[in-house]
Amino acid sequence: MSVTWTSIQKQRLQELNASETQREMCFESHQARDRAFQEQEHLLVVEGKKRLMELRDIKRRPALSLLEQQLIEALTQQGFVQVVTPTIISKASLAKMSVSDDHPLFSQVFWLDNKRCLRPMLAPNLYTLWKDLLRLWEKPIRIFEIGTCYRKESKGSLHLNEFTMLNLTELGLPKDQRHQRLEELASLVMDTVGITDYQLESTSSVVYGDTLDVVKGIELGSSAMGPHILDDQWGIIDSWVGIGFGIERLLMVKEGSQNVQSMGRSLTYLNGVRLNI
Ligand code: ATP
Ligand code: MG
Repeated sequence: MSVTWTSIQKQRLQELNASETQREMCFESHQARDRAFQEQEHLLVVEGKKRLMELRDIKRRPALSLLEQQLIEALTQQGFVQVVTPTIISKASLAKMSVSDDHPLFSQVFWLDNKRCLRPMLAPNLYTLWKDLLRLWEKPIRIFEIGTCYRKESKGSLHLNEFTMLNLTELGLPKDQRHQRLEELASLVMDTVGITDYQLESTSSVVYGDTLDVVKGIELGSSAMGPHILDDQWGIIDSWVGIGFGIERLLMVKEGSQNVQSMGRSLTYLNGVRLNI
């Protein structure tokens, strides 16, 4: 007979960031399983406490913030300018992204009142800045933002209601270089995070149409390029490329973690460690 974890045990192991080997263990009897659970849980609790000590005594900053900082350094070194824009955006700017009433993303938006919402993406603000920067700077214009975005999601281990997006963009590059540039930018980010063996996969996005996703087991980022059908709304005619990454998902894959919740803004986890240990 082969006995596996009960669903409660499985959930607890996932919360504690058990490895795949731990999560897939099989046993001869219920008794052997329950004994093993005690042992594995104890090991994970000890490991979690060790990580919390390391946070207090050495690192002092959560992995999410450290990764943000590494990305900021890598991108600014490559000539990208960081921008910080409002998290409260207008209904009109979302509509300019084609996100209005019957759009799939519309129902995922957190509304503050009938004109304003919490941004579900960074793109509308970056489009707005492009327009002015085109007048003020020469091309190519390289800007990026790292900031919180908000979406009502039906949960699961890959989705947060508030997550951190990195959106990097380059506007005004030669049209025939877009594809290569996207590959370079994806590799810049992935190298900085320390994730190897990722893939670029063609998919279709509800906002941008056909896009190239950065994937390693899960979707880590989605790219788009212009001239794009949305550009008209923003008065943009130059070629561009852009990629949006979820920082918590990057961390999750980097650290081999089981759920994105442990990596994000949280009161139940601190730096990936479940606090009820
Ligand atoms: P998915 O299909 O996985 O829901 P998406 O295609 O809707 O993601 P995008 O709009 O492409 O997401 O956003 C860019 C990136 O932001 C995604 O590749 C992902 O890494 C991250 N992301 C999007 N939504 C969430 C979320 N709710 N929680 C955490 N990360 C997210
Ligand atoms: Mg996507």
